[in-house]
Amino acid sequence: MTDRLTMQDPRAQYPQPPFPEQPQPAPGLAREMDPTPDHGETSYKGSGKLAGRKALVTGGDSGIGRAAAIAFAREGADVAISYLADEEADAQEVVRLIEADGRKAIALPGDIVNEDWCRRMVGEVVAGFGGLDLLVINAGRQQYRKSVEEVSSEDFDRTLKTNLYALHWIAQAAVPHLRPGSSVITTASIQAYDPSAILLDYATTKAGIVAYTKALAKQLIERGVRANVVAPGPIWTVLQPSGGQPQEKVRTFGEGSVFGRPGQPVELAPVYVLLASQEGSYINGEVYGVTGGAGVA
Ligand code: NAD
Ligand code: MG
Repeated sequence: MTDRLTMQDPRAQYPQPPFPEQPQPAPGLAREMDPTPDHGETSYKGSGKLAGRKALVTGGDSGIGRAAAIAFAREGADVAISYLADEEADAQEVVRLIEADGRKAIALPGDIVNEDWCRRMVGEVVAGFGGLDLLVINAGRQQYRKSVEEVSSEDFDRTLKTNLYALHWIAQAAVPHLRPGSSVITTASIQAYDPSAILLDYATTKAGIVAYTKALAKQLIERGVRANVVAPGPIWTVLQPSGGQPQEKVRTFGEGSVFGRPGQPVELAPVYVLLASQEGSYINGEVYGVTGGAGVA
């Protein structure tokens, strides 16, 4: 593969379908994916844009959150990552990468459907780093169900707790610690605007994340803090083969994009860095699409 910054046709830059079917139980491990996603492990180069910042990235063990965590560390930030206990192997790889950049890492295994844990987790970051400047609320649950009858109350509850309640609990615990220049970034989805039939509960939460973040942005700017949303399209992460999509859709994942391929997590990293950094100083309450051309309106 050529260097990611070399001028080239972006459609051919990363793997294209068909992909092998690769079922894993949720939440799944990125390290078992084929092909291996590019989270920027060797490809992301930093330039000091987040020097000295203290960051928390939920779901920072894998996928889009891992790409943000790696990029933030390369840009000079200390980074805490939250994840589920079953994801320890992925998380430890990220901790090693953060520390290899000479930055501090904090590993926070725990289930964010638990309100008490969400609040304690923020406290651990503040205590461990001596503050919190950058908050990336990115963890998410996506389990497809073919019909409305199959979306159980347990499904609905767990998806809303993971994607929306935890967003509120973590934001509420973190906001008192944010200083002027801090930044909050949430991960929604193109599903907020163009929902798939099989993602009823998930798409609902993604629309909620957009509204919540826009409202929060209006409050936080009064404190000199910005908040923005990233809305990805199809990205090659373990969310998809671990129940996010049926396996036949994993095989053709990204095929429907005009790029003919899914995005790689590292292709989101520059947007998270921009929104986190002081270079994003006039960007607030916005939704940044990284959809492979599908748009977010
Ligand atoms: P991923 O599976 O790599 O990351 C999701 C992470 O969420 C997991 O690693 C896990 O640590 C965390 N998580 C889930 N439930 C949790 C819980 N109860 N407690 C603690 N942590 C929990 O997949 P990803 O695609 O990188 O997902 C990151 C975000 O991107 C999600 O919000 C997802 O909805 C969003 N997104 C993904 C895509 C895509 O195509 N992959 C598209 C649009 C939006
Ligand atoms: Mg994971």
